Amino acid sequence: MESIWVADGHCDSLGDYLTAKRTLKYSSEGGHWDLQKAKEGNVALQFMAAFIESEYKPDRAVWRGFQLLDAANRFIKENTDAVFPVLNKDDLRKVANKPKIGIIIGVEGGEILGDNILMLDKIFQLGVRVLGLTWNQQNAIGYGIGASNQKEEGLTLFGRQVIKRLNELGMLIDVSHLNEPGFWDVLECSQFPIVASHSCAEAICPHPRNLTDQQLKSLAANGGVVGINFNPPFLTRNPVAKREDVVRHISYIAEVAGIETVGLGSDFDGISDVPEKLTDAAQFPGLAQDLLKAGFSTEDVRKIFNKNLIRLLSSVLK
Ligand SMILES: [Zn+2]
Repeated sequence: MESIWVADGHCDSLGDYLTAKRTLKYSSEGGHWDLQKAKEGNVALQFMAAFIESEYKPDRAVWRGFQLLDAANRFIKENTDAVFPVLNKDDLRKVANKPKIGIIIGVEGGEILGDNILMLDKIFQLGVRVLGLTWNQQNAIGYGIGASNQKEEGLTLFGRQVIKRLNELGMLIDVSHLNEPGFWDVLECSQFPIVASHSCAEAICPHPRNLTDQQLKSLAANGGVVGINFNPPFLTRNPVAKREDVVRHISYIAEVAGIETVGLGSDFDGISDVPEKLTDAAQFPGLAQDLLKAGFSTEDVRKIFNKNLIRLLSSVLK
C-alpha cells in the first residue's frame, strides 16, 4: 500500500536555516526535518514556525520575527522545485496533488506584533497563515503557560482585537502554549475553528503544555484539531518515549474528543529529544503502520495524518 501522506502542524527548522547551520535540503546535514527526510516520510504539507527565541524578548522580538519570516520566504524561493507556499484555499487544493511540499508559514509568539494590530496585516502580507498567540511567556495578547499569573488571566483587550482581525484575514489561530483562561477566551471570541498545533493529552501525561479532557472536548465542539507533539516529556513520564506513546495519545484523544479532532504536530527541530523509531520526518510511515496495527482503519489514519488539518484550514483560509 502506498504510504499515507502527512500534514504536519508544526516544525521549528527555520532557525537552523536562518543561521545557515543547515540548508534544509539534505538528510546528511542532520536535524529532524529537511526536504529529503520530508519526502521520504511522504510529507505533503508542512507548517514551518518562525519561533522567536526568548533572548530576543521583549525588545528585539519584532525584529527577530521579521528576520525569521524573511528566512521562510527565502527558503521557499530557493526551493521552488521542491516546495510551494500555501496562502489560500486554491493552494490548499494543490496539496498532495503535486510532488511539491506545501508550506504554511507560521509565527510562534504574538510578540511579533508588539502591541500594534497593523503588524498583523504586515505578517499576513509576508505569507503568514497561522499565529501561535503566545509562547510560554506573557505578551500583549495574553499569557503563556509559563507566565506567573497564568492561572487567572485570560486574553487582553488587545488579544481580543487580534482574534477578530485573524478571523477577518483568514488566518488560523494556534493555542498551543497559551494558558487555560486564554484558551477559553479564544473559543468564545473566534468565529472560526482553531488549532492546538503541537500539544498532547494531559490525562495520559500530566504536563502544563498538554490539554485537559475538557479542553479536548471543547476543541472538538469547535471543529478544531490538536496536533500530537512528539516531545518525549509531553508523551510519557518514562525516561524514554516510544512510537507507541504517540499511538496512546492519538487513541485517547480519538476516544475522548473524536477521531476528527486528532492531527500531527511533530515539533521536529523544536525538541531536544525524540521518541524511539520516530526520530525524524522520514519515519512517519512507521507511525501509520503502528496505528493500523492498533486497530485504526486506513480512513481513520488518513484523517489523523492529513484530512482533519486540511478540513480545518479549508474552513479558515480565504
Ligand atoms: Zn512550541
